[in-house]
Amino acid sequence: MPEGLEAEIWRTALTSIVGRRITCAWVDDRVAPPGFVREVTGSSVAAIRRVGKVVLIDTDETIIGLHFGMTGRLVIDGEARIDRLEYASGQDRPEWDRLRLFTNGTQAAAAVRLNDPRRLGRISIDPDLTHLGVDIFDLSVTSLEDALKRRRIAVKTALLDQTVLAGLGNLCVDEVLWWAGIDPHRPANSLESDEMKRLEEMVRRRLPIMLRRGGSTSGVLSPEVRAACPPCERDGHPLRRDSIASRTAVWCPGHQL
Ligand SMILES: [Zn+2]
Repeated sequence: MPEGLEAEIWRTALTSIVGRRITCAWVDDRVAPPGFVREVTGSSVAAIRRVGKVVLIDTDETIIGLHFGMTGRLVIDGEARIDRLEYASGQDRPEWDRLRLFTNGTQAAAAVRLNDPRRLGRISIDPDLTHLGVDIFDLSVTSLEDALKRRRIAVKTALLDQTVLAGLGNLCVDEVLWWAGIDPHRPANSLESDEMKRLEEMVRRRLPIMLRRGGSTSGVLSPEVRAACPPCERDGHPLRRDSIASRTAVWCPGHQL
């Protein structure tokens, strides 16, 4: 499932359309607001931003929000920048397209396609994102403490809450908890201040490394490791797979305390 890291990879790739004019648009009406095509056609792309897992295309007339759901991915100028996504098929069928934007310069083929087999993503106009918490790349120890200290739910569940921390998904949460040595079941408010610091440090250090390596599937707890649960790379203890608030958690009972 696309996380903030995937959205960041697409944000970077989409900067190639800045300055172009949207000459034509097509959208799957089931996942976009009425009047979308009319609103965006003819506008020029001014900037590309990302907030949490949402990519924003700022035009001179409106803001287009791309929400990727479980299996959405972007194909930009004919190129899929991320081939591999957990739960995604890796195939690219035209009937899975939910959005096509054509721009000047690339009239023949769509400059941007949102391809989403399970159709759980959506497209918005001028999305209100004020409910989102601090972005994964702006995290500080203080903001992490503020987000977790009053919550009794599992730390894993709290970190997945986009109103707390925007951009972390299931894989990245398991990954940073593995690196920080924190049991995902622990109540969020039970973390000591040295654990908060360790967790913040791992978000700050590990996410850029995963970003460079290709996204949320590139960590120690890769999809292959998650499926097989082999011995932990750090201490040889067999990894465990549990369900926490209906999400799969893969963790090591040996060093995650
Ligand atoms: Zn371990």
